[in-house]
Amino acid sequence: MLDLMIHSIYTHKEIFLRELISNASDAIDKLYFQSLTDEKVGIAKDDFCIELKPDKEARTLTIIDNGIGMTAEELEQNLGVIAHSGSRAFKTENQLDENTDIIGQFGVGFYSAFMVAKRVTVRTKAYGSDTAYVWQSEGVDGYTIDTCDKTTVGTEIMLELLDDTDDEKYSDFLEEYRLRNLVKKYSDYIRFPIRMETSHEHLKEGTEDEYETHVEIETLNSQTPMWKKNKNELTDEDYDKFYADKFFDYNGKPLLHIHSRSEGAVTYNSLLYIPSKAPYDYYSKEYEKGLQLYASGVMIMDKCADLLPDHFSFVRGLIDSEDLSLNISREMLQHDRQLKLIAKSVEKSIKNELAKLLKTDRKKYEEFWKAFGIQLKFGVYHTFGASKELLQDLLLFHSSGCDEADGFTTLAEYVSRMREDQKYIYYAAGETVSRCKSLPATEQVLDNGMEVLYLTESVDEFAVQMLRVYADKEFKNVSAGDLGLESEEDKTALEAKNADAKDLLETMQKTLEGKVKHVRLSNRLKSHAVCLSSEGEISLEMEKVLNTMPTGEKIQAERVLELNAEHPIYETLQRLQTEDQDKLASYTELLYQQALLIEGMPIEDPVALSKMICDLMV
Ligand code: ADP
Repeated sequence: MLDLMIHSIYTHKEIFLRELISNASDAIDKLYFQSLTDEKVGIAKDDFCIELKPDKEARTLTIIDNGIGMTAEELEQNLGVIAHSGSRAFKTENQLDENTDIIGQFGVGFYSAFMVAKRVTVRTKAYGSDTAYVWQSEGVDGYTIDTCDKTTVGTEIMLELLDDTDDEKYSDFLEEYRLRNLVKKYSDYIRFPIRMETSHEHLKEGTEDEYETHVEIETLNSQTPMWKKNKNELTDEDYDKFYADKFFDYNGKPLLHIHSRSEGAVTYNSLLYIPSKAPYDYYSKEYEKGLQLYASGVMIMDKCADLLPDHFSFVRGLIDSEDLSLNISREMLQHDRQLKLIAKSVEKSIKNELAKLLKTDRKKYEEFWKAFGIQLKFGVYHTFGASKELLQDLLLFHSSGCDEADGFTTLAEYVSRMREDQKYIYYAAGETVSRCKSLPATEQVLDNGMEVLYLTESVDEFAVQMLRVYADKEFKNVSAGDLGLESEEDKTALEAKNADAKDLLETMQKTLEGKVKHVRLSNRLKSHAVCLSSEGEISLEMEKVLNTMPTGEKIQAERVLELNAEHPIYETLQRLQTEDQDKLASYTELLYQQALLIEGMPIEDPVALSKMICDLMV
């Protein structure tokens, strides 16, 4: 069983060091705690430490602590029975797949030593005990326990490293730089110093090319977690530097940091960052979201995806909770519950910070929005509106109501500017602001003194459809059916006009059979002769977006060709209806093609169109 566990569950061999250091730290914690009430312990707080001793000749690595130690019974119980710590890990094996970084998530303690060692020797003397013991094992074949002559209280764990193979260079774990890096990576914030004898080459004094080796005892870990420090002690530079070093993002300072402590259903410290720029792979499949997860200062996972919802996937940072166990032997279910609670609370705090930024520093928020705004809109869409409440007030849109062409408005701002009699939040969709602005349908709404949102991202209209309403106001595409702008009289008058033009409109519709569902006169148009609008769920802009997706199926909005009865061309059409049906057909076709162009839709047959225009010109 041990063999299976070692070779099938573990993925990252290097974490053995983290596990052994954590055990040593726990053991010191216990003795330190004892020393608070028991003078006999005789060790000052500052004297507690963990020592790493690599020995290249003997190919051994020893981890030494002056913690509480173990009695013979404890050795037997804690290290003797593989089932003790490892069994639950083993039971959950059926839930594991290649992608589950089980060791990265939970760690399984002492036994990870056998990932890198062929033999492990533990020499230990428990506090208050007269006898020291040595425990030795080569893994699968059991273990032996004997007495030994260790005089000081504490534990020494000696690993005889496995022989190097082509794939794995175990002797690396004897190298100074490697050990130093591993401590930095996983155990930097262990509360007790982790020391190692290190050697440095120095220029010999008085010489120019003679070197001497200087040996010193170095402390490898920084001990106080940055996130456990008091906010007042830290400057923006401290936060920025920590961010760059920790997350290797030298892409400019982070836009924002959120440093907080949460106490309640679950207790944790968090230090979160919003980067100022999206990483190069952010909008690709390669990007992995997640926060670093620490259990009481010990890193247990580098990217815990479950801690971040997709709409906040750009957030970097870490969570450190005392309520999480480093040990897989704790109930996994309970573990999940804690994680979920943390994730919920993290989501809320990111939202609140963004809302605060929007309120207090609009310029910075817009910078954020340019880098990651689209992600929030995807969030509204992907959760089918479930994140509406959370996200809607963080959304920005271009709008006719903004002073600058590329300015942004929030929905709340839009609503605050709405006319009293305005029923809808109007929007126009197109590739650019100027495109949206020049849509014939936009003109009419603007002429009525109402504001139009300009939706320029492909996801926008889908997100807006998920939102459906904001502050009790429905969203309305300016290119869709009835805009609610006309009085009853206007409507009746228009109906009458349409009835009069019935023959002409039917002829035109026949010419465009299969391309448009209806041809009708409308009040929507001011300066333009024609426009396209749509009926039903799918708008023209959505049709464009949907047809760029590789689903194979061609999607078409229900198109309506709208004519401006006030435009001079309308008179021409009326005349042609009686005088020249052929010409009417080609004019109809031409008008339809123009409407497509205005809408930014593809022309089905550009060659034919061009020929038609030339025919008219000669
Ligand atoms: P855990 O995750 O519970 O620490 P381990 O397999 O790592 O599981 O260790 C089992 C137990 O062995 C520990 O809970 C502790 O009681 C004991 N132990 C391990 N290492 C040490 C040590 N360096 N000093 C004292 N006790 C230790």
